[in-house]
Amino acid sequence: MSVLIVGSTALDSIKTPKAENPRLLGGSASHAAVAASFFSPVKLVGVVGEDFPKRYIQIYKRHRIDLEGLQILPGKTFHWSGEYELNMNNRRTLLTELGVFETFTPTLPKAHQNSQFVLLANIAPSLQSHVLNQMQRPRFIAADTMDLWLNIALPDLLKLTKRLDAFVLNDSEAHQLTKEDNMFAALRKIHKLGPKYVIIKKGSHGSILSSPQGFFICPAYPLHKVVDPTGAGDSFVGGMMGYLATAKGSIDRNIRRAMIYGSVVASFCCEGFGLNRTTGIKRSHINARVKELEKLTRF
Ligand code: AMP
Repeated sequence: MSVLIVGSTALDSIKTPKAENPRLLGGSASHAAVAASFFSPVKLVGVVGEDFPKRYIQIYKRHRIDLEGLQILPGKTFHWSGEYELNMNNRRTLLTELGVFETFTPTLPKAHQNSQFVLLANIAPSLQSHVLNQMQRPRFIAADTMDLWLNIALPDLLKLTKRLDAFVLNDSEAHQLTKEDNMFAALRKIHKLGPKYVIIKKGSHGSILSSPQGFFICPAYPLHKVVDPTGAGDSFVGGMMGYLATAKGSIDRNIRRAMIYGSVVASFCCEGFGLNRTTGIKRSHINARVKELEKLTRF
């Protein structure tokens, strides 16, 4: 079973206290697609400009990502730039150049319309809904978001959440959305917006799932050095969806393990700039860290 992933496909210029790297392969969909590709076939839907380097297309291809839904349009690729503070948890956006993203309408090729697993990675919620409007009956729909959409497109986001199986957001977004400081109270409120599964990401502190089966506390893999956390959240949800798409049995049976796999892929993402580290690993590297996490959390 493949995963359909729609989101941003970008050039990221990233500054950390130690280094600066311009125009890396980035975007929510790029990170999620590469992460999912370790587990299942991936169909990517996005847009890039004519300036998008050919070597980045080759990276998608090396991960056997289906590019039929990737539009290449005259103009510039979406360019995002961010700078991290010393603790690497706080980031500020320096620049957002929309380029071809400004007029982007995700159009699904026919072969994509009956996809069973759909990940609506971070883009405008109206575009995420537009993708769902073109689909038949997916088995499992998950969406990610960002604070920007809570600020400027909340009504669109609230329309979208009614249609989701899983909603993934980070802790500050959960608090912003619900006005609740207590995470468990926030989770309860978010379920009322529609999704059966709600996952709150807490960066280096892991994530929490709330589902009809109860809560699951998913750890982050303990890293001694974080080089660049950009895209870690996208890698987490991409890895989780890739794992779910090929795991046998029900979502309830598999979702906890899927989160652990996502968490491990996210740990690799943090160890290099952009996708540099994630694109250099194999499934065996992921499996080894999953085993370590199993040991760390058994009691
Ligand atoms: P994360 O670190 O998980 O928050 O994701 C970072 C990724 O989000 C980067 O690769 C950016 O290219 C992408 N991104 C930043 N701003 C936006 C935006 N407004 N819409 C879609 N993607 C964005």
